[in-house]
Amino acid sequence: MSYIEFNNVVKRFGDNTVLDHISFGIEKGDLVTLLGPSGCGKSTLLRCLSGLERVTEGTIVLNGRDITNVPASKRNIGMVFQQYSLFPNMTVEQNVAFGLKMQKAPADEIENKVKEAIAMVELTGKEKAYPASLSGGQQQRAALARSIVTEPDVLLLDEPLSAIDAKLRKALQSRIREINQELGLTSIFVTHDQDEAMVMSDVIQLFHNGRIEQAGSPVEVYTRPVSEFAASFIGSYNLLSADEFGRLTGDKVASGNVVAIRPETVGISAERPAGEEAYVLEARVKSSTPRGNVLRYEVVANGIQLRVDTLFRSFHLFDDGAHVFIELPRHACLQIPVGVARAA
Ligand code: ADP
Ligand code: MG
Repeated sequence: MSYIEFNNVVKRFGDNTVLDHISFGIEKGDLVTLLGPSGCGKSTLLRCLSGLERVTEGTIVLNGRDITNVPASKRNIGMVFQQYSLFPNMTVEQNVAFGLKMQKAPADEIENKVKEAIAMVELTGKEKAYPASLSGGQQQRAALARSIVTEPDVLLLDEPLSAIDAKLRKALQSRIREINQELGLTSIFVTHDQDEAMVMSDVIQLFHNGRIEQAGSPVEVYTRPVSEFAASFIGSYNLLSADEFGRLTGDKVASGNVVAIRPETVGISAERPAGEEAYVLEARVKSSTPRGNVLRYEVVANGIQLRVDTLFRSFHLFDDGAHVFIELPRHACLQIPVGVARAA
């Protein structure tokens, strides 16, 4: 039995089914990401777990106890939201102490725990500051300290970093991951950003229209998408219809399938490669775009356009219009079902 279990959870608002028979388990100490486009039901599932929302059908079990009908205040679940939810008229210290005061903890215990939580989120020195004087990143750190100080069984983080700029976001991603490990917390992190899900998670639950499309480790989900939707959402796959794949390679695809090819599995070279167990095709470079340490080419082979990612090494650049060879390893051409999968 898992530490948290969702059993056939259904949530309807009127006749809008927002969660459609969600079933999965979360192991103690794991950081699980709910990844999916906006509106697919991620926040609703968190709200059902925290008790802010009632499920329409199904059950939720936490640490062996059915909490489906337990009031929110009796679930011992901490939550951090996207919008900064600090009390504006309280200092950082007062915000962080709030939960412990409500629990009527002794004053010296409050003082120690608040100090520790503030140090953990690296806000030492800002104890007396008011939220309005803090940056967005600092406010989210304070909100995080406020959630962990009461030692919740589970920490829920609903897109806590989506309003924070890229560089700071990376630092906070690592800090959240570290805190999760240091405290042995079981956490659920919601995001619509695949890169964020990749770096944060022990397990990714990929959501689509109120259902789980795919679950697995970041590497599994990245390298073995189970459906066209999964491949379109993660890993910037080239997705080719059976007809397009036929025109590209001359090979057939099982009916009902499309072919997904990750851009970094495609080789590009000036000389014809030996190409064992691979399709070797002549192609023309259409354009190239630097993306950090990766150079992404758009090439055209047999009338089909493909993305090809290479490590950005200056001695390997091809100009637009260059005549090149591309090499598609057969094992990298994944045949997957058209449309969305239906998780069992
Ligand atoms: P996500 O967090 O994945 O972006 P949400 O769980 O917030 O998605 O919302 C999923 C769907 O449920 C949306 O269509 C949203 O409009 C609907 N929804 C969420 N909360 C309510 C509510 N309180 N009343 C009616 N519809 C809601
Ligand atoms: Mg949401």
